Amino acid sequence: MAMPLFDSITAHETGEAVELLQELIRLRSVNPPGNEGDVARAVARRARDWGLNASLVPVVDDRPNLLVSLPGAGERPALVLSGHTDTVPPGETPWEHDPFSGDLSDGHVWGRGAVDMKGGVAAMLVAMAALARRGWQPRGDLRFVGTIGEEVDCIGAEHVRDTDGLAGVGWIVIGEPSNLDIVAAHRGAVWLEIVAHGKTAHGSMPHLGVNAILHLAELLRWLCERRFPYEEHPLLAPPTVNVGTISGGVKTNVVPDRCVATVDLRTLPSQDHAEILRDVRDLAAELESTTPGLQFDVRVGNDMPAVETPVDHPIVTETRAAVAAALGAEPAIRGATYYTDGGIFAPSGIPMVIFGPGDDKLAHQPNERVEVDHMALAVRAYAAIAERLLG
Ligand SMILES: [Zn+2]
Repeated sequence: MAMPLFDSITAHETGEAVELLQELIRLRSVNPPGNEGDVARAVARRARDWGLNASLVPVVDDRPNLLVSLPGAGERPALVLSGHTDTVPPGETPWEHDPFSGDLSDGHVWGRGAVDMKGGVAAMLVAMAALARRGWQPRGDLRFVGTIGEEVDCIGAEHVRDTDGLAGVGWIVIGEPSNLDIVAAHRGAVWLEIVAHGKTAHGSMPHLGVNAILHLAELLRWLCERRFPYEEHPLLAPPTVNVGTISGGVKTNVVPDRCVATVDLRTLPSQDHAEILRDVRDLAAELESTTPGLQFDVRVGNDMPAVETPVDHPIVTETRAAVAAALGAEPAIRGATYYTDGGIFAPSGIPMVIFGPGDDKLAHQPNERVEVDHMALAVRAYAAIAERLLG
């Protein structure tokens, strides 16, 4: 058997992934507002220089999705390498290196997005370039799909889904940080905004009012103590509930007639979001029926399905074999605590795994940084995955 192409990738080429990552970190794409346009254009320019096809797909404002491809022979479905181009803000805590420096220091590239997930994006692109440079034609399209907005509302992934962007796709590899493990599952998320409407009164006569804060607190306590039914998952932590924000009331001596809270529920694949929502609304209705003048509005913000790929599915076993060959060691197979654009893609039924450079615990943290060695290994691994699935 001929030497696999990933094994001929040079240090110069993996160095290109580090340089591209540094460039992408310097092009801040903090969301909100996003500003992913500069990142998309920089990646597209490099991709074309490397002989790949690249195009920008307008979504909103100057925030395009990005498509890069190495066309295949049409004998197999496409493999999508998926990454988002926005980042979270750097936060208030001072960093050891400027969060937008892309500094190379101590064997790491430092900066916001190094791990989540400009590192994965750069490694995917350089892997595609390395394969193209060697004249390789995949049996199916090899595509990079760069999405905007993952850190806020996943509008980029929704646009891909709603514009038939997954037609003809057989596999998805999401390059979120996995510490080079293979992540086969992550929990879903439902974000709720709950508004309680009561009745105001003088603070000295609370019995004449309906206290929106107290009634919302009752609903929130129930929500946190309630065990929505679920089946345990071998790769995932149990479901969780977090009350993230609350605001209400105008003055100490006034009965508040309005209170708003936001709640983040993380769910397992066995849980139905519609059922959870029905339970919450049923309880709200029950509380309303015993308190005249009380009314709740329950609105859904994010609604992100869980991702679950069986560990014996070929996409898991094949990527595991490819990664093992590229890294010289068997990768672990596990679940992740975070969610990804994969939740938006999951209802399509296309099998997916998450694999990327960087320690996921550093995502969204100060001093976010990725090991240069991880970048080199990820370039090899993405090329190996493509060769295995499309060769
Ligand atoms: Zn991410």
